[in-house]
Amino acid sequence: MTGETVFGKILLGEIPSDEVFSDDKCLAFRDIQPQAPIHILVIPRKPLKSLLEAQQEDKELLGHLLLVAKKVARNEGLTSWRTVINTGESSGQTVFHLHLHVIGGHELGWPP
Ligand code: 5GP
Repeated sequence: MTGETVFGKILLGEIPSDEVFSDDKCLAFRDIQPQAPIHILVIPRKPLKSLLEAQQEDKELLGHLLLVAKKVARNEGLTSWRTVINTGESSGQTVFHLHLHVIGGHELGWPP
């Protein structure tokens, strides 16, 4: 259910967020604890817990989220950035509502 996580509550308007983009399929807002000068989260309105839950029927939605990640990065003036999807606790996922991190604005080391 949408309201189960902090991101679900943001979608429902129960918790405020610094929104940068919104449409009928997703919402993008600034991370509350940015790891770089630009750190934006893109989340689907559909309450998928993680990429693990995504199915064939979500193909178009997943593509849309990637294109929105590009749009918000470009709106911030970025030409180089990192898009991250943590999946599962061992990866560092802490909020179980699928989200794409868009991170940039300074030199990013690799591996992270
Ligand atoms: P994860 O570790 O699950 O991949 O990423 C969760 C992200 O959500 C973290 O970067 C964390 O700072 C961010 N976050 C957690 N709670 C909130 C919140 O209430 N508002 C916003 N804007 N970001 C949050």
